[in-house]
Amino acid sequence: MKHYHSCHTCGGSGIVHDSRGLGEICPACDGKGFVLYIKDTSDQKSPFLRVVVIAAIVLVLFYSLFIIYVTLERVSFTASVIILFIGHAVLAVSLIMYLLFKAMSEK
Ligand SMILES: [Zn+2]
Repeated sequence: MKHYHSCHTCGGSGIVHDSRGLGEICPACDGKGFVLYIKDTSDQKSPFLRVVVIAAIVLVLFYSLFIIYVTLERVSFTASVIILFIGHAVLAVSLIMYLLFKAMSEK
């Protein structure tokens, strides 16, 4: 099922204005003024499964970027350990935040 919703970020105009009054193409709808909302059956699945899938994708992306970065930049062992540690910490914190947010919004 597909629905078109007028974009909430720009109010349907496709243009957002920053603090200086300059117009920019709305990042939420790419200037179209509406967003396509696709309702598919994956919404019916357990949200936990979705979180695990998203976390797995993020982790794979993170490792790919990490390997590319280490290969290209020849970073020291200490630096790569720090990058790995920060990456995992950020992922863990976002996961916890997401679960907390989810738990709070359901009540
Ligand atoms: Zn918009």
